[in-house]
Amino acid sequence: MKDAYDVVVVGAGPGGSNTARVAAEHGLEVLLLEKRPEIGAPKRCGEGFSVNGAKTLGIKPDPRWTINEIWGANIVAPNGRRVSVRYEKQVGWVIERKMFDKLLAIEAARAGAEVLARSEVVGLVMQDGFVRGVEVERHGERLTVEAKIVVAADGVESKVARWAGIDSTQRLVDIDSAYQYEMVVDLEEPDMLDLYFGNDIAPRGYVWVFPKGKDVANVGIGIGGNVSTRTAKQYLDEWIAKHEPFNEGRIIEVNAGGVPVGAPLEKLVANGLMVVGDAAHQVNAIHGGGVFEASFAGQLAGRVAAEAIERGDVSEAMLMKYDREWRAARGEILHRIYKLRRAIEQLSDEDLNYLAEQLTGEDVVAFANGERLGKLAKILMKRPHLIKAAKELM
Ligand SMILES: Cc1cc2nc3c(=O)[nH]c(=O)nc-3n(C[C@H](O)[C@H](O)[C@H](O)COP(=O)(O)OP(=O)(O)OC[C@H]3O[C@@H](n4cnc5c(N)ncnc54)[C@H](O)[C@@H]3O)c2cc1C
Repeated sequence: MKDAYDVVVVGAGPGGSNTARVAAEHGLEVLLLEKRPEIGAPKRCGEGFSVNGAKTLGIKPDPRWTINEIWGANIVAPNGRRVSVRYEKQVGWVIERKMFDKLLAIEAARAGAEVLARSEVVGLVMQDGFVRGVEVERHGERLTVEAKIVVAADGVESKVARWAGIDSTQRLVDIDSAYQYEMVVDLEEPDMLDLYFGNDIAPRGYVWVFPKGKDVANVGIGIGGNVSTRTAKQYLDEWIAKHEPFNEGRIIEVNAGGVPVGAPLEKLVANGLMVVGDAAHQVNAIHGGGVFEASFAGQLAGRVAAEAIERGDVSEAMLMKYDREWRAARGEILHRIYKLRRAIEQLSDEDLNYLAEQLTGEDVVAFANGERLGKLAKILMKRPHLIKAAKELM
């Protein structure tokens, strides 16, 4: 590790590794720091990832992480009604995040970035209102590393942005609490995602079964952070106990974590600082997916960092280019999805059952991507008590 770099990236998740790779490809001197001893592990993810997402990111599918093809989804209403959609071509994968994240970091290293695991950023160096570097703890030593730009890609529990004066605190209502078992269990349709809805099953969330093969699956739950005195684990255990064959499943891994489902940060940059991924709340607030969002934002941040350093201007005003371009490409759509989340959380089980009768599987997938919301608003309008929720979508 040297004393100074162009860019120091904090956190080697998809956001950080994509930032580091792109910045290094532009010829910058980059340091990517990860506090955990192994990049990608333990995973905190259902591991769903779309084919379109990979294409947009220019990430070439690699059999080391594309471990199971997904062709569609079954959405199950509280009364058990199934709304299914099976596409004519493969639409996604359940991936192996441990390999995916590690390979992204390897790509960053191959592009020239220095990558260091078990190196925790514990503070920022600030001078004249600019972030000028980081304090790192590594093997019991505390070191100072200078940087022209620091990128906070430190995930849902991000501290780096806050140290630089950006209020990145999430309200409890805007954090979903998630719990998951990776299980060995015989599956009926290993190429379909299953999603189970209901306020008794998963208040303001859902239970998911994401197959990793014909007899292995991530079986997880996300619930609203402020909606129950019971934990996500309790809800998941109750659901599993009532559902065959999951109640016979063998648990090979336990994962838990928070998902930031609030609106994206109002400002993604400060003097000498950019915020990326979960740290910036760049997550789909409906399904909780953030791998694509973090990667997309990271690539953009890497490009803007290169431009800023070439111009010799790392001020907030210059770095706002990342903020503006991100909002134009993803911010507006994520905000629409956030509004949908706010509307949906007002629905009772009876409303959800009603929706399941009115909607196709394609509709549900479109809604989750922030599309066809006018159609949803029209259906909600037909129920007087949902007019307020419908208006929130307009
Ligand atoms: C249970 C669960 C299921 C999910 N399922 C899906 C899914 O199916 N599909 C999907 O797309 N998304 C899913 N998500 C969300 C997805 O995992 C995140 O959105 C994604 O990982 C965000 O990437 P990131 O790079 O911003 O942050 P992270 O992947 O969280 O990476 C941040 C990294 O920063 C490191 N770090 C933190 N602080 C420091 C520090 N001070 N110094 C050095 N390193 C630090 C952390 O150790 C971590 O490795 C799920 C989340 C959860 C919790």
